[in-house]
This record gives sequence, C-alpha cells and structure tokens, in this order.
Amino acid sequence: MRFDIVTIFPEFFGVLDVSLLGRARRDGVLELGVHDLREWTHDRHRTVDDTPYGGGAGMVMKPEPWGEAFDALLGPEDGPPSDALVIFTTPAGVPFTQSLARELATESRIVFACGRYEGIDARVAEHVATRARVLEVSLGDYVLNGGEVAAMAMIEAIGRLVPGVVGNPESLVEESHEDGLLEHPSYTKPRVWRGLEVPEVLRGGNHAAVDAWRRAEALERTRRVRPDLLPGGDSPL
Ligand code: SAM
Repeated sequence: MRFDIVTIFPEFFGVLDVSLLGRARRDGVLELGVHDLREWTHDRHRTVDDTPYGGGAGMVMKPEPWGEAFDALLGPEDGPPSDALVIFTTPAGVPFTQSLARELATESRIVFACGRYEGIDARVAEHVATRARVLEVSLGDYVLNGGEVAAMAMIEAIGRLVPGVVGNPESLVEESHEDGLLEHPSYTKPRVWRGLEVPEVLRGGNHAAVDAWRRAEALERTRRVRPDLLPGGDSPL
C-alpha cells in the first residue's frame, strides 16, 4: 500500500521512520511519499496562501499549487481517472473511525492533503473529485492547526491494518472499537505490584472463565466510559 502526503511541513512525517510503520516501510510492505507543497509554487516567497474572498480573519490556501501537486501525483488534468483515493483532512469532514480505517486499509494508494491556515480553497477538492475519489475526513470534533497530525494518526491506524505490518494479526482483532466495545483491562507480571493484585481469574488457566471475565469487563468499561457506543446509550458528557 502507498501513502502520499502533500504538506507545507514535510518534516512532521519523520516519525513514520520509527517503530512498526518504519519497519513496514523498510520491508516494502508500506510505501510513503512526502511532498512539499511549496515545490509547486513559482514566486520568490513560495507563497501558498492568500486573503479570503468575502473577508474575515486568517488566510486561505491558494488553489494553484494544489492543482499542480495533484497533476503531478494523479496524472495530467485531462488524463484518465486515478485509482488513488484522495483524503482532505478537515474538521468539517466525516469522522475517522476504526471501521473507516478498516475500509481504507483495502485501498492500494491514498493521497493526503494537509491544510493549514483557514483551510484549502474549496475548489481544489471539487476539482480533484473529477479525477479521483475524494473523502473529506476529520480526526475528531476539535480544530488542529494543520492536517499533518490528522494525516499521521490516520496513516498509523490504517497502516497497522495492512497485512504484514503487525506481526500477529490476531492482536488486531480483540482491540477497542473492533467489536463496538472498549477493550477489557490488560495485565502482565508481576502478580502483585505495589499492593495491587492481578485478578485471580486471569491466573487460573480456565480459558472460558477468562473469556467471560474479559467480555464482562469490556461491557462494564464501555458502559462507564463510552455509553454512547452501546445501543440506546447516552453521550458520555
Ligand atoms: N477553518 C477551518 C474550519 O473551521 O473548518 C479549520 C482550519 S484548521 C485551523 C487548518 C487545517 O488543519 C485544516 O485545513 C485541516 O487540514 C486541519 N485540521 C484541523 N482540525 C482537523 C481535524 N479535526 N481533523 C482533520 N484535519 C484537521
């Protein structure tokens, strides 16, 4: 699977060299291309923003460098449609969830557009949608300074679901949000730490009892922390 990222801060993505995703890249399971939007500017100041039509505070990202970036990444404007899925990171997009991450992990190529300032001129997404599939995706109901952290979080969540990235695929199945519940608590050795003991059922070797305990704990935790995940549940706030 390949990720391309267009950003004015390519240095943000250095962290994708480390840990599981870094290894997956070195093993050739994941490919990553990080592109500096300013490479597609032509003025001395490498300008990527301008004042908003209609007035108001802040600046808006100009469409021209984005247009050239997409020509380079998706093929010429009048060429055949691209297979890539283009994700515009925006707080005004559909929420990013584990089930969306699962769906996106089946793509062969995703291009991320990272906005800054007040966002990207709206015609860019409209234009890209004539040449590729486009999704506007939000990391959550809050506003970041730019799309880089959002793209990175999405790449990590999607990337770890790509076969071959996480060593033991079974470890992906039992996680929070995979079956609509939060995960049960986990423990390791020692049996007693600072006076706190690991629940006895986990030490007894009775697998059915362990499964039942974990299910009950997952339900209890979900009810307490995220009742909104349960049928008819209220918001946690
Ligand atoms: N004016 C925009 C609005 O109110 O919808 C917010 C602009 S924000 C300061 C700048 C950029 O950060 C956005 O274009 C987007 O790329 C990114 N961003 C901010 N919050 C985000 C979120 N929750 N999810 C994804 N991207 C986000």
